[in-house]
Order: sequence, then structure tokens, then C-alpha cells
Amino acid sequence: MDFIGRKVLVTAGAAGIGRAIANRFRDLGAEVMVTDINPAAVDAAKQDGFIAAVSDVSDEAQVRELMADVRNRLGGLDVLVNNAGIAGPTGPIETLDAEAWKTTFDVNIHGQFFCIKHALPLLRETQDASIVNLSSAAGRLGMAGRSPYSASKWAVIGLTKTLAIELGPEGIRANAICPGAVNGPRIDAVIEAKASMLGQPVEDVSDLYHKQSSLERLVEADDIANMAAFLASDLARSVNGQAMAVDGNTEKLY
Ligand code: NAD
Repeated sequence: MDFIGRKVLVTAGAAGIGRAIANRFRDLGAEVMVTDINPAAVDAAKQDGFIAAVSDVSDEAQVRELMADVRNRLGGLDVLVNNAGIAGPTGPIETLDAEAWKTTFDVNIHGQFFCIKHALPLLRETQDASIVNLSSAAGRLGMAGRSPYSASKWAVIGLTKTLAIELGPEGIRANAICPGAVNGPRIDAVIEAKASMLGQPVEDVSDLYHKQSSLERLVEADDIANMAAFLASDLARSVNGQAMAVDGNTEKLY
């Protein structure tokens, strides 16, 4: 895979899985810009040599400004990675706060819609452009206590399949990635919230999370980065509208 001369934007690319994705594209020769809502994460990314901007994907005005910034600072766009997403609230559906439910959708699906809508003029100016949307194993399975997260990640797959049909004739591909539980601080917080909801020890719930994959271990952020690079590369030139599981084979989520 070779991304020399290609320009890549990774939302929420200053930390977590997004940062692993940004690193992978840069290692493969791309010029990479990252965004994050968190100014400290953006500063750290700048120090590591990335073009970086503070931007909240759930705010359409900020996304419009971001894409103008991409045009000025990156000089174009070949690959959009819609990575920004939040875990949302944990609890049985009847206990969930409506605002927290809506915020989960604002970031996880409306954010992708805004980024795609305002990136399209840039993507249309290049050849073989590609969109990679982060869904989740919870975007193809149910997940007790995480209904807004699961529902918003299913929406990502519907959006991706629709984009593939709408944009395919223009040569712009769209695919989604469905990671299983990824090793890192976010999954630790999710496991703690789930243990508290179930009234079970954190170690027991952590064990369930590890064993939900047939490989009986968590996925690494680099595994997701490898799939993102593959999907955006010429090796995947005929892969369009797919939701690629990177979860070690997961049939049930806890
Ligand atoms: P994370 O919680 O570690 O967050 C990464 C970054 O997102 C943070 O730096 C945060 O500041 C930023 N962010 C939050 N809200 C934002 C917004 N509105 N606009 C811009 N940036 C924002 O996330 P992660 O674990 O790296 O997950 C990345 C993506 O992968 C998400 O879409 C997530 O749903 C998905 N995913 C994660 C896992 C997992 O186990 N971690 C599993 C499946 C799918």
C-alpha cells in the first residue's frame, strides 16, 4: 500500500483508534490532517507533526469551517476517515436520559453526515476518493445496556451502504469498519460502566469482554488502522458498501 501524494483527514484522529489510523496513513506516505474536540489532544498531535485542528463533528457550522481549513492547509482530500464517535450512556432503555441519547446520535451519525456532506466537494476533485466510516461490532449485533450506541452504529452501516450506491458511479467508494472491543482507555470505562449496571465485579465483566471474541482477546487499535488503510487503498478498488468486521469473530456482545 502506498499513499504517497494522497491527502487524508481523520476525525478524532488526535487520540485513541483515530490516532493509530492517522499514524498508519502517515507511515504509508500520506499527508494527514487530524481533528479532535479536545484542544489538548490537538496540541499533542501538532507536536507530533500532524496538521491538526479543533473541531466538533456534531456541529455543522464547525464542520463546514473544518473543510475550508482542509482545503487551505491540506490542499485537497482523497480519503475521509469518519472516526469520531462516543460511547454514550449505559443502562436499561427505560433509564436513559433523552438528551444523552440524542448526543450519542449527534456525534456518531449526524457527525458523519456533516463531514461527508461538506467533504464531498473536495473528494469530487480527486481520483479514486474513499470514505471510511467507523461503525462497531455493536453496529451489526445488539448490546444490552448500550442501545443508543448500538442503534447509532447500525445507522452508520445504513449510511455507508447508501453512500456506496450514490457515489459509486462517481468512483468514490464508501466502506465501514466494525471493530470489536479495542484495547485502550475507552473500553476500560465501558467495562466499568457495565459492571456497575450489572452489579458485578469489574474483573468478571472484563473477562466476558475478552472472551466475546473467538480469539479470546481484545483487538488492538493498529488492527483497525490496518483495515482503514486497506479499504482506502487501491488494493480495495472493488470493495464498496461493505461493513468489515475486525473483531476476532464476535457473535454475541455483553
Ligand atoms: P475515544 O473514546 O478514545 O475517543 C477518541 C477521540 O474522540 C477523543 O480524543 C475525543 O476527544 C474525540 N471526540 C469525542 N467527541 C468528539 C466530537 N464530537 N468531535 C470530534 N472529536 C471528538 O474513541 P476510540 O475508542 O478511539 O473510538 C474511535 C471510534 O471507534 C469511535 O467511532 C468508536 O465508536 C469506534 N469503536 C471503538 C471501539 C473501542 O473498543 N474503543 C469499538 C468499536 C468501535
